[in-house]
Parts: sequence; C-alpha cells; structure tokens
Amino acid sequence: MGRRTTRIGTIVLGRTKLREQDLILTMIDQNGAQVRAVAKGARKPGSRLAARTELFCECDMLLSCGRGLPIVQEAEVRNRHGHLAYDMGRVAAGSAMCEVARLTCYEDMEDPFLYHILSRALDAVGEAKDAQNEALLVSAYAIKVLSHCGWRPVLDACVACGEPSMARFSVASGGVLCQSCAKDVAGAMPITEAQVSWVRSLVLSTFDTLATCEVAQETSTFLAHLAHAWCATHLDARLRAFEFYAGV
Ligand SMILES: [Zn+2]
Repeated sequence: MGRRTTRIGTIVLGRTKLREQDLILTMIDQNGAQVRAVAKGARKPGSRLAARTELFCECDMLLSCGRGLPIVQEAEVRNRHGHLAYDMGRVAAGSAMCEVARLTCYEDMEDPFLYHILSRALDAVGEAKDAQNEALLVSAYAIKVLSHCGWRPVLDACVACGEPSMARFSVASGGVLCQSCAKDVAGAMPITEAQVSWVRSLVLSTFDTLATCEVAQETSTFLAHLAHAWCATHLDARLRAFEFYAGV
C-alpha cells in the first residue's frame, strides 16, 4: 500500500524515545488536532532533524502517512520559541503549557483555537517581565484553554445559590461559593475579592497585559496553584510538569 504525504504546521508537545536513534513526537497541528509521528534518526548527534524536533518547536512538517504512525520526512522551523530554551524557569513554564495542550487536544478533533493560543502563549513567556508574570501567563493559558473547552470558572456569584457574595472558591464545584453554601463543600478554599478579580483577569486579559502587569509573588503563586488544581480536577489527570512548575 502506498503512503501519502501531508504538509502541516505543528508544535512539538512531547518527545518519547524510540529504538536507538528515533523519537516519537506528540504534536498539536495547526488545526488543533493531536498528531503523533516518528522522527527517524532524531536522536543521532548532529542530525538535522534533532534541532527541529525540540520541545516547543513550531515547524512545517512533511509527514508520510500509511500503516502505523506517520513518519517525519522534512521539518522546517517556523518559530523555535527559542527564548524558552536557555532558562530553567521558562523551560518549566513552557513544559507546563505543553502538558495542558497535550491533555486538551485529540486526534481527529479539530479546534484551531488550541494551536493559536499555545503559539501565542509560548511567545508571551519571552515577553514576561519576571517570574511572577511568567506564572500569570502559564495560569492564564491553562484557565483560558479550559474555559474554551467548557470549564469556565463561575466568578460573579455563588455557583450553588446565585447570591452575589463570594467567600470561598471550590475547584470541584466550578467557582466561587457564598459562606453558607461553602459549609457543605469539602476543599473549598478561602478567597478574597482581589483574588477573584485576578482569576477573572486570567480569563479576560490579553497575554500582553499579563506579561507586564504588576503582580505580587503571593498572588502569582496562588493563581498557579489554582490553575493547576483546576486542570487536574477537570481534566481528571495528573499533570507532572504543571505540578513541578507550580511547586505543588
Ligand atoms: Zn451560595
């Protein structure tokens, strides 16, 4: 049976060793679907493919498809997101975002938004003023993507009774709770109005704004924990890279 080729933009989300010198790449394609492909010889020292299949790398790929996984024939770099490569904090930030991307895109399910927001978020980390702003970007990326996928936090009124008073936040219930409803909900954490408006701005603010705004370390840490818990609960998955990044 012949193999057909297809050319498509992708971002590398994960790399798994295969045999001596090969890799299996997990990627999101420009249509927002998850693609896995074999990069032959990509672990050979000096291989042209090695540098083009790094984590975070945005490439035009020529894939040949047939039985089994597609095979990478050519890869041309569009955007290496190179600012993520030389700083451990940024590598961890990018890895956490790629992990969320990997858990929210699926084979045979197209959603171009997921590709574009990841590409933009990876770029934005390079524009972050400092580590606190990086944490805001990772948290915002996670909350924006989950909101898009149907898990948008309720922030304007108690998620249980609709009273416009908010004393606690419950990840499992899906948003803020008033004092009286919170009594019956295990794991509802105290939240201030200022913190609620920060969560709101993760949903609504642009990455540009979040990359440069003033934010206290206490706040960015709180938001990273909340965003991690939001993802782990609603995606029902353990997110190791995000855990490492958020320090949970
Ligand atoms: Zn209530």
